[in-house]
Amino acid sequence: MIAEEKIAEIRQAARISEFISPHVALKRRGRNLVGLCPFHDEKTPSFSVNDERGFYHCFGCGTGGNVFKFLMAIEGLSFPEAVRKVAERYGIDVPEEGGGPQAPSRDRYFQANASAARYFRRCLLETPAGRPVLEYLSQRGIGEDASETFLLGASPTSGDGLLRWFKKESIDLSVGRQLGLLLERGGRLQDRFRGRLMFPIRDVQGRVVGFAGRAVAEDAGPKYLNSPESPVYHKSRVLYGLFEAREALRETSTLILVEGYLDAIALRQAGMGSVAATCGTALTAEQARTIRRQADEVVVVFDGDSAGTAAAARSFPVFTDAGLWPKMVVLPGGEDPDSFVRARGLEAFEAELGRAVPLVDAFVRYTAQAAGGGASGAARAASELSAVLARLENPFERDVLIRKAALWTGISEDVLRRQAPGAAARSGAARRGPATQPAKAPGGAPGPEELLVTLMLTGDDIVRRVHDEKVIDLMVSPVWKPVATAMIDRFNRGLPGDAGTTLEEIPEQYRRRVAERLVEGAGLDDAGTRERILADCVRGIRRSARRRHNQSLLLELRRREELGADVKPGEDLADWKPRNLSDA
Ligand SMILES: [Zn+2]
Repeated sequence: MIAEEKIAEIRQAARISEFISPHVALKRRGRNLVGLCPFHDEKTPSFSVNDERGFYHCFGCGTGGNVFKFLMAIEGLSFPEAVRKVAERYGIDVPEEGGGPQAPSRDRYFQANASAARYFRRCLLETPAGRPVLEYLSQRGIGEDASETFLLGASPTSGDGLLRWFKKESIDLSVGRQLGLLLERGGRLQDRFRGRLMFPIRDVQGRVVGFAGRAVAEDAGPKYLNSPESPVYHKSRVLYGLFEAREALRETSTLILVEGYLDAIALRQAGMGSVAATCGTALTAEQARTIRRQADEVVVVFDGDSAGTAAAARSFPVFTDAGLWPKMVVLPGGEDPDSFVRARGLEAFEAELGRAVPLVDAFVRYTAQAAGGGASGAARAASELSAVLARLENPFERDVLIRKAALWTGISEDVLRRQAPGAAARSGAARRGPATQPAKAPGGAPGPEELLVTLMLTGDDIVRRVHDEKVIDLMVSPVWKPVATAMIDRFNRGLPGDAGTTLEEIPEQYRRRVAERLVEGAGLDDAGTRERILADCVRGIRRSARRRHNQSLLLELRRREELGADVKPGEDLADWKPRNLSDA
């Protein structure tokens, strides 16, 4: 058995179209890709693939599912084979069947990390070892609230404090070693982090996956020391502070992306909650996709020096591949967000956000300058820009990039346009005729329970809200309640949503129109519309529940009347018979 959460991790890493396109020629249509269904004979494409939510659905024959289902159906793989195939593509390790004593479960890594975080926190607050770190925090203006929110801690200089703590807590020391918290030196196990301010790094579910330790003394080695890659820590997937930002991201759909741990903490402390940090690594495709799942817009606020500007510029194509069109702020005087917000306050920072410019500007300028001068430099820059251009699907975004590229390379817009015909032109045939549109499903307007399930399929933020609002208990539909319940169960087990699988759980006669709404979008991607639909659904479901409740109260009143006045309120009616019957 492959662990459920491993399977979810692999599915989330996958771009489903990468696995379908070798079998089906796909063309872009809006946010989806369409092609001729490989599972039934057809002349016009009704096979739809949605990368964002990781599912495919054929409106002709009704087949559909997630990436694993597709590989099983088309290549005849078993489920574990399909999972392994996808994992291999993304370099994700899948533990062998059965696990065995050699492979501790992921839970044990999370437990060890959580235990270490508790230990570091205690050291900070309750031991003399925490004093230099507390001093450093107060120098940096980090207060207790922020320290608590981010679970900041201190690693003592002794070198075996965590080792002894792990022994006391019965944590498997080999797990501690694999996590890079302990290391062997001269044949003895020791603490890896010493005399450092400790930042626990959490995944989007709030589990501690790794640590960063910042030196607080001058001569204490490298400024930052990070956990190595481990079974639970993958640097390329994590964004620092994203978990802590989840509350704020429910209020706003704009994420502020910064570079450093302390930038994220300082902004949060100043009152800017929707912030996450890349922690000095170049933005990866996985990070960008993670951001896209949590936010609709991004403002990149990297350090004001040239390295920061270059890093921001280089992140542009990574963002656009994930479907984001970011903005950028360059802070005056080469300041970083931490120093800026401490010196000048939140209002000044918000004013800078108000002056954010599209990141595409910095990207084009950077590419043109990095390619060097002269005709060969311009040609080099133009071909790099064309490569990005070719992947852009939004015609307005393409137009902006072409105009900027022409301006900075001196190559004419016409030439640039010809060099990168673009997705829109390539899929022109698919956009033309109404015959290629999927046929409309029959049936009346969907009720609130159906709409709610559809909305839950669009993102785990909605699933969380439905869970928190306890709406499921009030649902009654034999079709939609089981589907919604299954989704909440997944959520409670810490697993991300799986639109492909959930669609299959919906009875066939309804599946088509839910898939249709998902594929067509129908405003389901717009934050405001989502909120409105969610509120309407919840209100509708509550109202029906109230009506049913009132009806049953009324019924009970009538029964009591029938039974006579001597039934005391609250008494069970089941044992009573109407008086005229018992008297007879
Ligand atoms: Zn089909």
